[in-house]
Amino acid sequence: MEQIGHFIGGKRVAGTSGRTADVFNPATGEVQAQVALAGAAEMRAAVEDAKAAQPAWAATNPQRRARVMMKFVELLNRDMDKLAETLSREHGKTVPDAKGDVQRGLEVVEFCIGAPHLLKGEFSEGAGPGIDIYSVRQPLGVVAGITPFNFPAMIPMWKFAPAIACGNAFILKPSERDPSVPLMLAELMIEAGLPAGILNVVNGDKGAVDAILDDPDVQAIGFVGSTPIAHYIYSRGCANGKRVQCFGGAKNHMIIMPDADLDKAADALIGAGYGAAGERCMAVSVAIPVGKETADRLVAKLIPKVEALKIGPYTAGDDVDFGPLVTGEAQKRVLGMIDSGVEAGADLVVDGRGFKLQGYENGFFVGACLFDNVTRDMDIYKTEIFGPVLSVVRAKDYEEALSLPMEHEYGNGVSIYTRDGDAARDFASRINIGMVGVNVPIPVPLAYYTFGGWKASGFGDLNQHGPDAFRFYTRTKTITSRWPSGIKDGAEFIMPVMR
Ligand code: NAD
Repeated sequence: MEQIGHFIGGKRVAGTSGRTADVFNPATGEVQAQVALAGAAEMRAAVEDAKAAQPAWAATNPQRRARVMMKFVELLNRDMDKLAETLSREHGKTVPDAKGDVQRGLEVVEFCIGAPHLLKGEFSEGAGPGIDIYSVRQPLGVVAGITPFNFPAMIPMWKFAPAIACGNAFILKPSERDPSVPLMLAELMIEAGLPAGILNVVNGDKGAVDAILDDPDVQAIGFVGSTPIAHYIYSRGCANGKRVQCFGGAKNHMIIMPDADLDKAADALIGAGYGAAGERCMAVSVAIPVGKETADRLVAKLIPKVEALKIGPYTAGDDVDFGPLVTGEAQKRVLGMIDSGVEAGADLVVDGRGFKLQGYENGFFVGACLFDNVTRDMDIYKTEIFGPVLSVVRAKDYEEALSLPMEHEYGNGVSIYTRDGDAARDFASRINIGMVGVNVPIPVPLAYYTFGGWKASGFGDLNQHGPDAFRFYTRTKTITSRWPSGIKDGAEFIMPVMR
Protein backbone atom coordinates (compact mmCIF):
# COMPACT_ATOMS: atom_id res chain seq x y z
CA MET A 1 0.00 0.00 0.00
CA GLU A 2 1.39 3.41 -0.99
CA GLN A 3 2.14 5.63 2.03
CA ILE A 4 1.78 9.39 1.50
CA GLY A 5 3.68 11.57 3.95
CA HIS A 6 4.45 15.28 4.11
CA PHE A 7 6.79 17.74 2.37
CA ILE A 8 8.90 19.56 4.94
CA GLY A 9 12.29 21.25 4.62
CA GLY A 10 12.36 20.82 0.84
CA LYS A 11 11.77 17.07 0.74
CA ARG A 12 9.21 14.33 1.26
CA VAL A 13 9.14 12.95 4.80
CA ALA A 14 7.14 10.14 6.34
CA GLY A 15 4.48 10.85 8.96
CA THR A 16 5.36 10.08 12.56
CA SER A 17 2.04 10.49 14.39
CA GLY A 18 0.97 6.91 13.68
CA ARG A 19 -2.39 8.11 12.36
CA THR A 20 -3.40 7.70 8.71
CA ALA A 21 -6.46 8.05 6.50
CA ASP A 22 -7.48 6.00 3.45
CA VAL A 23 -7.18 7.58 0.01
CA PHE A 24 -9.65 6.01 -2.42
CA ASN A 25 -9.81 5.55 -6.15
CA PRO A 26 -13.40 6.87 -6.41
CA ALA A 27 -14.02 5.07 -9.71
CA THR A 28 -13.35 1.60 -8.26
CA GLY A 29 -14.04 2.28 -4.59
CA GLU A 30 -10.67 0.73 -3.70
CA VAL A 31 -8.26 2.14 -1.14
CA GLN A 32 -5.17 3.05 -3.18
CA ALA A 33 -3.00 4.75 -0.55
CA GLN A 34 -2.79 5.87 3.02
CA VAL A 35 -2.04 9.45 3.90
CA ALA A 36 -0.31 10.44 7.11
CA LEU A 37 -2.30 12.65 9.48
CA ALA A 38 0.07 15.04 11.21
CA GLY A 39 -0.10 15.72 14.91
CA ALA A 40 0.76 18.96 16.67
CA ALA A 41 4.47 18.05 16.98
CA GLU A 42 4.89 17.54 13.23
CA MET A 43 3.06 20.78 12.49
CA ARG A 44 5.26 22.63 14.95
CA ALA A 45 8.41 21.23 13.30
CA ALA A 46 7.18 22.41 9.88
CA VAL A 47 6.39 25.89 11.21
CA GLU A 48 9.83 26.16 12.80
CA ASP A 49 11.44 25.14 9.54
CA ALA A 50 9.41 27.73 7.67
CA LYS A 51 10.21 30.41 10.25
CA ALA A 52 13.95 29.78 9.91
CA ALA A 53 13.85 29.93 6.11
CA GLN A 54 11.55 32.95 5.71
CA PRO A 55 13.82 35.98 6.44
CA ALA A 56 16.29 35.10 3.66
CA TRP A 57 13.42 34.58 1.22
CA ALA A 58 11.85 37.92 2.19
CA ALA A 59 15.26 39.55 1.59
CA THR A 60 15.47 38.01 -1.89
CA ASN A 61 14.48 40.75 -4.29
CA PRO A 62 10.95 40.42 -5.71
CA GLN A 63 12.17 39.99 -9.28
CA ARG A 64 14.15 36.91 -8.27
CA ARG A 65 11.13 35.57 -6.39
CA ALA A 66 9.06 36.15 -9.52
CA ARG A 67 11.56 34.18 -11.60
CA VAL A 68 10.83 31.12 -9.45
CA MET A 69 7.16 31.55 -10.40
CA MET A 70 8.12 31.86 -14.08
CA LYS A 71 10.04 28.61 -13.95
CA PHE A 72 7.22 26.96 -11.97
CA VAL A 73 4.75 27.81 -14.77
CA GLU A 74 7.08 26.13 -17.26
CA LEU A 75 7.28 23.00 -15.09
CA LEU A 76 3.51 22.86 -14.60
CA ASN A 77 3.09 22.85 -18.37
CA ARG A 78 5.79 20.20 -18.73
CA ASP A 79 4.10 17.91 -16.18
CA MET A 80 0.48 18.75 -17.01
CA ASP A 81 -0.45 15.21 -18.09
CA LYS A 82 1.10 13.59 -15.03
CA LEU A 83 -0.50 16.06 -12.64
CA ALA A 84 -3.92 15.66 -14.27
CA GLU A 85 -3.75 11.86 -14.21
CA THR A 86 -2.82 11.77 -10.51
CA LEU A 87 -5.51 14.32 -9.73
CA SER A 88 -8.20 12.32 -11.56
CA ARG A 89 -7.15 9.08 -9.91
CA GLU A 90 -7.69 10.49 -6.41
CA HIS A 91 -10.54 12.94 -7.07
CA GLY A 92 -12.49 11.10 -9.77
CA LYS A 93 -12.98 14.04 -12.16
CA THR A 94 -12.25 13.54 -15.87
CA VAL A 95 -8.73 14.19 -17.15
CA PRO A 96 -9.70 17.25 -19.27
CA ASP A 97 -11.43 18.67 -16.18
CA ALA A 98 -8.34 17.90 -14.06
CA LYS A 99 -6.22 19.83 -16.57
CA GLY A 100 -8.59 22.77 -16.08
CA ASP A 101 -8.00 22.46 -12.32
CA VAL A 102 -4.22 22.75 -12.86
CA GLN A 103 -4.62 25.48 -15.49
CA ARG A 104 -6.77 27.75 -13.29
CA GLY A 105 -4.07 27.53 -10.60
CA LEU A 106 -1.29 28.09 -13.14
CA GLU A 107 -2.97 31.33 -14.24
CA VAL A 108 -2.74 32.68 -10.70
CA VAL A 109 0.96 31.76 -10.66
CA GLU A 110 1.32 33.75 -13.92
CA PHE A 111 -0.33 36.72 -12.21
CA CYS A 112 2.16 36.38 -9.34
CA ILE A 113 5.04 36.92 -11.76
CA GLY A 114 3.92 40.55 -11.49
CA ALA A 115 4.93 40.62 -7.80
CA PRO A 116 7.60 43.33 -8.23
CA HIS A 117 4.94 45.67 -9.57
CA LEU A 118 2.18 44.56 -7.21
CA LEU A 119 4.36 45.08 -4.15
CA LYS A 120 5.28 48.69 -4.97
CA GLY A 121 4.40 51.12 -2.20
CA GLU A 122 3.26 54.74 -2.13
CA PHE A 123 5.34 57.89 -1.74
CA SER A 124 4.41 61.47 -0.98
CA GLU A 125 7.25 63.91 -1.32
CA GLY A 126 7.10 67.07 0.79
CA ALA A 127 4.08 66.04 2.88
CA GLY A 128 5.32 68.68 5.36
CA PRO A 129 8.39 70.91 5.46
CA GLY A 130 11.22 68.57 4.50
CA ILE A 131 9.02 65.60 5.28
CA ASP A 132 8.33 62.62 3.04
CA ILE A 133 5.80 59.89 3.76
CA TYR A 134 5.97 56.49 2.17
CA SER A 135 4.38 53.13 2.70
CA VAL A 136 5.73 49.68 1.94
CA ARG A 137 4.10 46.27 1.95
CA GLN A 138 6.06 43.66 3.86
CA PRO A 139 5.46 39.91 4.15
CA LEU A 140 3.82 38.59 7.31
CA GLY A 141 6.28 35.75 8.02
CA VAL A 142 4.84 32.23 8.21
CA VAL A 143 1.34 31.91 6.76
CA ALA A 144 -0.91 28.92 6.10
CA GLY A 145 -3.53 27.60 3.70
CA ILE A 146 -6.15 24.94 4.42
CA THR A 147 -7.78 23.65 1.25
CA PRO A 148 -10.70 21.43 0.11
CA PHE A 149 -10.76 18.22 -1.89
CA ASN A 150 -12.57 19.53 -4.94
CA PHE A 151 -9.73 21.53 -6.55
CA PRO A 152 -6.54 19.90 -5.22
CA ALA A 153 -4.29 21.78 -7.66
CA MET A 154 -6.03 25.11 -8.24
CA ILE A 155 -6.87 26.17 -4.70
CA PRO A 156 -3.47 25.30 -3.16
CA MET A 157 -1.87 27.42 -5.92
CA TRP A 158 -4.34 30.28 -5.30
CA LYS A 159 -3.03 30.28 -1.74
CA PHE A 160 0.68 29.56 -1.85
CA ALA A 161 1.68 31.37 -5.05
CA PRO A 162 0.75 34.92 -3.95
CA ALA A 163 1.87 34.29 -0.36
CA ILE A 164 5.31 33.07 -1.48
CA ALA A 165 5.68 35.76 -4.16
CA CYS A 166 5.15 38.30 -1.36
CA GLY A 167 8.10 36.85 0.60
CA ASN A 168 6.27 34.66 3.12
CA ALA A 169 6.93 31.03 4.02
CA PHE A 170 3.88 28.83 3.58
CA ILE A 171 2.35 25.82 5.33
CA LEU A 172 -0.20 24.06 3.15
CA LYS A 173 -2.66 21.68 4.78
CA PRO A 174 -4.43 20.15 1.77
CA SER A 175 -7.45 17.86 1.82
CA GLU A 176 -6.71 14.39 3.10
CA ARG A 177 -8.98 12.98 0.36
CA ASP A 178 -6.60 13.80 -2.54
CA PRO A 179 -3.17 14.67 -1.11
CA SER A 180 -0.82 13.62 -3.94
CA VAL A 181 -1.01 16.61 -6.30
CA PRO A 182 -0.17 19.21 -3.60
CA LEU A 183 3.01 17.22 -2.83
CA MET A 184 3.91 17.15 -6.53
CA LEU A 185 3.39 20.92 -6.69
CA ALA A 186 5.78 21.41 -3.78
CA GLU A 187 8.42 19.31 -5.54
CA LEU A 188 8.02 21.39 -8.69
CA MET A 189 8.44 24.61 -6.70
CA ILE A 190 11.78 23.30 -5.37
CA GLU A 191 12.80 22.33 -8.92
CA ALA A 192 11.85 25.87 -9.98
CA GLY A 193 14.38 27.27 -7.51
CA LEU A 194 12.41 27.84 -4.31
CA PRO A 195 14.63 27.47 -1.23
CA ALA A 196 13.78 24.59 1.11
CA GLY A 197 11.42 25.46 3.96
CA ILE A 198 9.45 28.15 2.10
CA LEU A 199 6.69 25.75 1.01
CA ASN A 200 5.79 22.92 3.35
CA VAL A 201 2.90 20.55 2.79
CA VAL A 202 1.61 18.96 5.98
CA ASN A 203 -1.16 16.43 5.53
CA GLY A 204 -3.77 15.86 8.15
CA ASP A 205 -7.28 16.39 9.45
CA LYS A 206 -8.76 18.39 12.32
CA GLY A 207 -5.71 17.76 14.52
CA ALA A 208 -3.35 19.36 11.99
CA VAL A 209 -5.78 22.24 11.40
CA ASP A 210 -6.09 22.96 15.12
CA ALA A 211 -2.30 22.96 15.42
CA ILE A 212 -2.19 25.70 12.74
CA LEU A 213 -4.96 27.67 14.42
CA ASP A 214 -3.16 27.67 17.76
CA ASP A 215 0.43 28.11 16.55
CA PRO A 216 1.76 31.49 17.70
CA ASP A 217 4.08 31.76 14.69
CA VAL A 218 1.39 31.38 12.02
CA GLN A 219 0.40 34.93 11.14
CA ALA A 220 -2.37 34.41 8.61
CA ILE A 221 -4.65 31.63 7.38
CA GLY A 222 -6.46 31.28 4.08
CA PHE A 223 -9.17 28.61 4.14
CA VAL A 224 -11.49 27.13 1.51
CA GLY A 225 -14.05 24.43 2.31
CA SER A 226 -17.52 23.94 3.73
CA THR A 227 -19.26 26.73 5.63
CA PRO A 228 -19.37 25.16 9.12
CA ILE A 229 -15.60 24.54 9.02
CA ALA A 230 -14.99 27.98 7.47
CA HIS A 231 -16.85 29.56 10.37
CA TYR A 232 -14.98 27.46 12.92
CA ILE A 233 -11.57 28.34 11.46
CA TYR A 234 -12.48 32.01 11.16
CA SER A 235 -13.65 32.19 14.79
CA ARG A 236 -10.75 30.30 16.35
CA GLY A 237 -8.09 31.89 14.12
CA CYS A 238 -9.38 35.41 14.84
CA ALA A 239 -9.65 34.67 18.56
CA ASN A 240 -5.95 33.79 18.41
CA GLY A 241 -5.18 37.15 16.80
CA LYS A 242 -4.48 35.91 13.29
CA ARG A 243 -5.44 37.39 9.96
CA VAL A 244 -8.02 34.97 8.52
CA GLN A 245 -10.00 34.68 5.29
CA CYS A 246 -12.39 31.75 4.93
CA PHE A 247 -14.41 30.80 1.86
CA GLY A 248 -17.31 28.43 2.37
CA GLY A 249 -20.09 26.55 0.63
CA ALA A 250 -22.52 27.69 -2.02
CA LYS A 251 -25.91 27.33 -3.66
CA ASN A 252 -25.59 29.06 -6.99
CA HIS A 253 -28.73 30.10 -8.87
CA MET A 254 -29.25 30.84 -12.54
CA ILE A 255 -32.25 32.97 -13.53
CA ILE A 256 -33.60 32.33 -17.01
CA MET A 257 -35.71 35.22 -18.30
CA PRO A 258 -38.47 34.63 -20.89
CA ASP A 259 -36.39 36.38 -23.58
CA ALA A 260 -33.26 34.25 -22.99
CA ASP A 261 -31.81 31.96 -25.65
CA LEU A 262 -33.17 28.76 -24.08
CA ASP A 263 -30.87 26.42 -26.00
CA LYS A 264 -27.83 28.28 -24.73
CA ALA A 265 -29.28 28.45 -21.21
CA ALA A 266 -29.99 24.70 -21.19
CA ASP A 267 -26.47 23.87 -22.41
CA ALA A 268 -25.03 26.20 -19.78
CA LEU A 269 -27.05 24.49 -17.05
CA ILE A 270 -25.84 21.07 -18.11
CA GLY A 271 -22.15 22.06 -18.00
CA ALA A 272 -22.41 24.15 -14.84
CA GLY A 273 -24.79 21.81 -13.03
CA TYR A 274 -23.21 18.44 -13.73
CA GLY A 275 -19.54 19.17 -14.56
CA ALA A 276 -17.21 17.51 -12.01
CA ALA A 277 -20.34 15.66 -10.74
CA GLY A 278 -21.51 18.96 -9.23
CA GLU A 279 -18.54 19.02 -6.84
CA ARG A 280 -17.69 22.66 -7.56
CA CYS A 281 -18.30 25.63 -5.31
CA MET A 282 -19.36 27.49 -8.48
CA ALA A 283 -21.65 24.71 -9.74
CA VAL A 284 -25.08 25.99 -10.70
CA SER A 285 -27.45 23.86 -8.64
CA VAL A 286 -30.67 25.90 -8.96
CA ALA A 287 -32.32 27.00 -12.21
CA ILE A 288 -35.06 29.64 -11.93
CA PRO A 289 -37.06 29.97 -15.13
CA VAL A 290 -39.33 33.03 -15.08
CA GLY A 291 -42.92 32.34 -16.12
CA LYS A 292 -44.70 29.02 -16.73
CA GLU A 293 -43.99 28.91 -20.45
CA THR A 294 -40.24 29.48 -19.97
CA ALA A 295 -40.20 26.78 -17.27
CA ASP A 296 -42.05 24.20 -19.36
CA ARG A 297 -39.85 24.81 -22.39
CA LEU A 298 -36.64 24.79 -20.34
CA VAL A 299 -37.48 21.54 -18.51
CA ALA A 300 -38.42 19.90 -21.82
CA LYS A 301 -35.00 20.84 -23.21
CA LEU A 302 -33.14 19.76 -20.07
CA ILE A 303 -34.61 16.27 -19.65
CA PRO A 304 -33.08 14.62 -22.76
CA LYS A 305 -29.76 16.39 -22.18
CA VAL A 306 -29.56 15.17 -18.58
CA GLU A 307 -30.54 11.65 -19.62
CA ALA A 308 -27.79 11.65 -22.26
CA LEU A 309 -24.98 12.53 -19.85
CA LYS A 310 -22.14 10.01 -19.92
CA ILE A 311 -20.80 8.95 -16.56
CA GLY A 312 -17.73 6.84 -15.97
CA PRO A 313 -14.14 6.52 -14.74
CA TYR A 314 -11.49 9.08 -15.72
CA THR A 315 -9.69 6.33 -17.62
CA ALA A 316 -12.50 6.41 -20.23
CA GLY A 317 -11.03 9.71 -21.53
CA ASP A 318 -13.19 12.08 -23.56
CA ASP A 319 -16.10 9.62 -23.57
CA VAL A 320 -17.17 10.70 -20.12
CA ASP A 321 -18.92 13.92 -19.04
CA PHE A 322 -18.39 13.42 -15.33
CA GLY A 323 -17.04 10.85 -12.91
CA PRO A 324 -17.84 9.51 -9.46
CA LEU A 325 -18.15 11.44 -6.20
CA VAL A 326 -15.05 11.63 -4.06
CA THR A 327 -15.95 9.11 -1.34
CA GLY A 328 -18.57 6.52 -0.44
CA GLU A 329 -19.64 8.86 2.35
CA ALA A 330 -20.29 11.67 -0.17
CA GLN A 331 -22.24 9.23 -2.38
CA LYS A 332 -24.42 8.17 0.56
CA ARG A 333 -25.07 11.77 1.60
CA VAL A 334 -26.05 12.86 -1.93
CA LEU A 335 -28.37 9.86 -2.42
CA GLY A 336 -29.97 10.70 0.95
CA MET A 337 -30.53 14.31 -0.18
CA ILE A 338 -32.21 13.11 -3.39
CA ASP A 339 -34.52 10.84 -1.37
CA SER A 340 -35.39 13.80 0.87
CA GLY A 341 -36.37 15.86 -2.20
CA VAL A 342 -38.72 13.11 -3.37
CA GLU A 343 -40.23 12.81 0.12
CA ALA A 344 -40.71 16.59 0.28
CA GLY A 345 -42.79 16.47 -2.90
CA ALA A 346 -40.42 17.74 -5.59
CA ASP A 347 -40.74 16.06 -9.01
CA LEU A 348 -37.68 13.95 -9.78
CA VAL A 349 -38.02 14.10 -13.57
CA VAL A 350 -34.65 12.42 -14.19
CA ASP A 351 -33.72 9.84 -11.56
CA GLY A 352 -30.04 8.83 -11.50
CA ARG A 353 -30.17 7.03 -8.17
CA GLY A 354 -29.98 3.56 -9.67
CA PHE A 355 -26.92 4.25 -11.85
CA LYS A 356 -24.50 1.30 -12.08
CA LEU A 357 -21.53 0.80 -14.34
CA GLN A 358 -20.34 -2.66 -15.29
CA GLY A 359 -16.89 -3.33 -13.89
CA TYR A 360 -17.17 -0.34 -11.52
CA GLU A 361 -19.98 -1.55 -9.27
CA ASN A 362 -18.13 -0.37 -6.14
CA GLY A 363 -17.31 3.10 -7.53
CA PHE A 364 -18.85 6.15 -5.86
CA PHE A 365 -21.09 7.03 -8.81
CA VAL A 366 -24.40 8.85 -8.67
CA GLY A 367 -26.32 9.30 -11.92
CA ALA A 368 -27.49 12.74 -13.03
CA CYS A 369 -30.73 13.87 -11.36
CA LEU A 370 -33.13 16.66 -12.30
CA PHE A 371 -35.80 17.98 -9.96
CA ASP A 372 -38.71 20.16 -11.08
CA ASN A 373 -41.13 22.11 -8.87
CA VAL A 374 -38.67 22.54 -6.02
CA THR A 375 -39.75 25.08 -3.41
CA ARG A 376 -37.77 27.25 -1.05
CA ASP A 377 -38.78 25.38 2.12
CA MET A 378 -37.27 22.06 0.91
CA ASP A 379 -33.92 20.80 2.20
CA ILE A 380 -32.72 20.15 -1.35
CA TYR A 381 -33.13 23.89 -1.97
CA LYS A 382 -31.66 25.12 1.29
CA THR A 383 -28.64 22.77 1.47
CA GLU A 384 -25.54 22.55 -0.70
CA ILE A 385 -25.88 19.03 -2.20
CA PHE A 386 -22.44 18.95 -3.90
CA GLY A 387 -23.52 16.24 -6.33
CA PRO A 388 -24.95 15.87 -9.87
CA VAL A 389 -28.37 17.26 -8.95
CA LEU A 390 -30.05 20.28 -10.52
CA SER A 391 -33.22 21.78 -9.00
CA VAL A 392 -35.71 23.83 -10.99
CA VAL A 393 -37.54 26.41 -8.90
CA ARG A 394 -40.30 28.12 -10.90
CA ALA A 395 -40.79 31.88 -10.40
CA LYS A 396 -43.79 33.84 -11.65
CA ASP A 397 -41.88 37.04 -12.40
CA TYR A 398 -38.43 38.70 -12.24
CA GLU A 399 -38.89 40.06 -8.70
CA GLU A 400 -39.77 36.64 -7.32
CA ALA A 401 -36.82 35.11 -9.17
CA LEU A 402 -34.46 37.76 -7.78
CA SER A 403 -35.73 37.22 -4.23
CA LEU A 404 -34.58 33.55 -4.24
CA PRO A 405 -30.79 34.09 -4.42
CA MET A 406 -31.17 37.33 -2.44
CA GLU A 407 -32.77 35.51 0.50
CA HIS A 408 -30.59 32.39 0.33
CA GLU A 409 -28.04 31.78 3.08
CA TYR A 410 -25.19 31.47 0.56
CA GLY A 411 -23.82 34.17 -1.72
CA ASN A 412 -21.01 32.70 -3.82
CA GLY A 413 -22.07 32.91 -7.50
CA VAL A 414 -25.21 33.66 -9.48
CA SER A 415 -26.12 34.30 -13.08
CA ILE A 416 -28.87 35.59 -15.34
CA TYR A 417 -29.71 34.60 -18.90
CA THR A 418 -31.52 37.33 -20.82
CA ARG A 419 -31.32 39.45 -23.96
CA ASP A 420 -32.44 42.52 -22.05
CA GLY A 421 -29.63 44.84 -20.94
CA ASP A 422 -31.87 46.67 -18.50
CA ALA A 423 -32.83 43.47 -16.64
CA ALA A 424 -29.20 42.33 -16.58
CA ARG A 425 -28.00 45.69 -15.28
CA ASP A 426 -30.66 45.85 -12.57
CA PHE A 427 -29.79 42.28 -11.54
CA ALA A 428 -26.04 42.89 -11.34
CA SER A 429 -26.59 46.03 -9.31
CA ARG A 430 -29.10 44.70 -6.75
CA ILE A 431 -27.97 41.13 -6.15
CA ASN A 432 -26.21 40.48 -2.81
CA ILE A 433 -23.78 37.87 -4.14
CA GLY A 434 -20.03 38.08 -4.75
CA MET A 435 -19.65 36.78 -8.32
CA VAL A 436 -22.24 37.52 -10.99
CA GLY A 437 -22.62 36.14 -14.51
CA VAL A 438 -24.61 37.70 -17.33
CA ASN A 439 -25.24 35.03 -19.98
CA VAL A 440 -22.25 33.23 -18.43
CA PRO A 441 -22.97 30.11 -16.38
CA ILE A 442 -20.00 29.92 -14.01
CA PRO A 443 -18.80 33.44 -13.33
CA VAL A 444 -15.37 32.46 -12.00
CA PRO A 445 -13.26 35.61 -12.23
CA LEU A 446 -9.89 35.34 -13.97
CA ALA A 447 -6.63 35.42 -12.04
CA TYR A 448 -6.20 39.21 -12.24
CA TYR A 449 -9.60 39.82 -10.61
CA THR A 450 -10.52 38.48 -7.21
CA PHE A 451 -12.62 35.48 -6.20
CA GLY A 452 -14.90 35.45 -3.19
CA GLY A 453 -18.49 35.00 -2.07
CA TRP A 454 -20.72 36.99 0.26
CA LYS A 455 -22.98 35.96 3.16
CA ALA A 456 -22.28 32.40 4.43
CA SER A 457 -19.91 31.80 1.49
CA GLY A 458 -17.14 34.01 2.84
CA PHE A 459 -15.84 35.21 6.21
CA GLY A 460 -13.26 37.93 6.64
CA ASP A 461 -11.98 40.69 4.43
CA LEU A 462 -10.21 40.53 1.05
CA ASN A 463 -10.77 37.93 -1.66
CA GLN A 464 -8.61 35.21 -3.17
CA HIS A 465 -6.11 35.90 -5.97
CA GLY A 466 -5.83 39.15 -7.93
CA PRO A 467 -4.58 42.25 -6.11
CA ASP A 468 -6.45 41.28 -2.90
CA ALA A 469 -4.15 38.27 -2.39
CA PHE A 470 -1.14 40.60 -2.31
CA ARG A 471 -2.88 42.71 0.33
CA PHE A 472 -3.89 39.69 2.39
CA TYR A 473 -0.38 38.24 2.51
CA THR A 474 1.42 41.52 3.31
CA ARG A 475 1.06 44.26 5.89
CA THR A 476 1.55 47.94 5.38
CA LYS A 477 4.26 49.94 7.06
CA THR A 478 4.06 53.72 6.74
CA ILE A 479 7.20 55.74 7.26
CA THR A 480 7.22 59.47 7.89
CA SER A 481 10.75 60.81 7.50
CA ARG A 482 12.49 64.13 7.81
CA TRP A 483 16.22 64.47 7.53
CA PRO A 484 19.01 65.36 7.81
CA SER A 485 18.03 68.48 9.82
CA GLY A 486 15.19 69.13 12.28
CA ILE A 487 16.18 67.16 15.34
CA LYS A 488 18.93 69.61 16.20
CA ASP A 489 16.31 72.42 16.42
CA GLY A 490 15.06 71.02 19.70
CA ALA A 491 12.00 69.22 20.99
CA GLU A 492 8.49 70.14 19.90
CA PHE A 493 5.75 70.11 22.47
CA ILE A 494 2.68 70.63 20.37
CA MET A 495 0.99 67.96 18.26
CA PRO A 496 2.77 68.09 14.87
CA VAL A 497 0.43 68.91 11.94
CA MET A 498 1.22 68.97 8.23
CA ARG A 499 0.45 72.61 7.36
P1 NAD B 1 -14.34 20.50 4.22
O1 NAD B 1 -14.84 21.70 4.94
O2 NAD B 1 -14.80 19.16 4.66
O3 NAD B 1 -12.73 20.43 4.29
C1 NAD B 1 -11.94 21.54 3.96
C2 NAD B 1 -10.65 21.48 4.76
O4 NAD B 1 -10.95 21.56 6.16
C3 NAD B 1 -9.86 20.18 4.56
O5 NAD B 1 -8.50 20.49 4.47
C4 NAD B 1 -10.20 19.37 5.80
O6 NAD B 1 -9.15 18.51 6.18
C5 NAD B 1 -10.42 20.44 6.85
N1 NAD B 1 -11.39 20.02 7.87
C6 NAD B 1 -12.45 19.19 7.69
N2 NAD B 1 -13.13 19.02 8.84
C7 NAD B 1 -12.50 19.76 9.77
C8 NAD B 1 -12.73 20.01 11.16
N3 NAD B 1 -13.74 19.44 11.82
N4 NAD B 1 -11.88 20.84 11.81
C9 NAD B 1 -10.85 21.41 11.16
N5 NAD B 1 -10.58 21.21 9.85
C10 NAD B 1 -11.39 20.40 9.15
O7 NAD B 1 -14.65 20.74 2.66
P2 NAD B 1 -14.46 19.74 1.45
O8 NAD B 1 -15.50 18.68 1.52
O9 NAD B 1 -13.04 19.34 1.31
O10 NAD B 1 -14.78 20.72 0.22
C11 NAD B 1 -16.06 20.97 -0.27
C12 NAD B 1 -16.60 22.29 0.26
O11 NAD B 1 -15.73 23.35 -0.08
C13 NAD B 1 -17.94 22.66 -0.36
O12 NAD B 1 -18.76 23.19 0.64
C14 NAD B 1 -17.57 23.73 -1.38
O13 NAD B 1 -18.60 24.63 -1.71
C15 NAD B 1 -16.46 24.42 -0.68
N6 NAD B 1 -15.63 25.17 -1.60
C16 NAD B 1 -15.69 26.53 -1.55
C17 NAD B 1 -14.94 27.29 -2.43
C18 NAD B 1 -14.99 28.80 -2.37
O14 NAD B 1 -14.10 29.44 -2.91
N7 NAD B 1 -15.99 29.37 -1.73
C19 NAD B 1 -14.11 26.66 -3.37
C20 NAD B 1 -14.06 25.26 -3.38
C21 NAD B 1 -14.82 24.52 -2.49
